[in-house]
Amino acid sequence: MSPAKKSTRAKRPAAKSAASPRKLAKKVAAKSSKQSVARKAAAKTRGKTAAQTPLAEYKRKRDFAKTKEPAGSAPKKNAKQLHFVIQKHSASQLHFDWRLELDGVMKSWAVPKGPSLDPSVKRLAMEVEDHPIEYNTFEGTIPQGEYGGGTVMLWDRGWYEAEDGGGLESLRSGYAKGDLKVTLHGSRLEGSWVLVRMKRPGRPQWLLIKHRDDYADEARDIVADETTSVASKRTMDEIAKGDKVWNSNR
Ligand code: MN
Repeated sequence: MSPAKKSTRAKRPAAKSAASPRKLAKKVAAKSSKQSVARKAAAKTRGKTAAQTPLAEYKRKRDFAKTKEPAGSAPKKNAKQLHFVIQKHSASQLHFDWRLELDGVMKSWAVPKGPSLDPSVKRLAMEVEDHPIEYNTFEGTIPQGEYGGGTVMLWDRGWYEAEDGGGLESLRSGYAKGDLKVTLHGSRLEGSWVLVRMKRPGRPQWLLIKHRDDYADEARDIVADETTSVASKRTMDEIAKGDKVWNSNR
């Protein structure tokens, strides 16, 4: 009723409408057909090796008798809306796990400094093993001594889509090419982002960069501002204390 209430409520639909803007349609039209042929070819060659042993590395690294993380069932079919989740993970080193649903698993990157809303900032994002989609609801502790031992907070979640409106095909080829442009619709992160793979030997390292749009904000340190769970509103300390695993050996 109050004007203040109205203005906060008005933000939501505005954010949602970013999903189908005329801008995106223009961009799609602008892509050359040559580019789209190359993308299709890249997606075709990539598909086979990636699909052979989904989640094998995820399962190999964990003892599900000891950790409460989900064991991960067979990869799920792509939902109508693709999920994304960001988990703040205080393990041997604090980092943010950036996860995007693609072809039934969560493609995952560990971002030591977390996302930045400043388009001039490039954040290192180390690609890690695919995670099961069930991981999207995991918040709690992983026992010390186990893989990733420490505290996990659900820091942001929502859905995402290809920035160019090209759907799954665009996401698959973007991932394969190492140039993955996405639009996020989360509680804390919104708008256009890109992950760019660096050409270095070893495990793929990417850079996470905010694109310039209405959600970019050079002045705001969102990682410092948002220190509670998007799901439970708990701090890292509260999550750690609230879990019996933490004290099980005392
Ligand atoms: Mn992690």
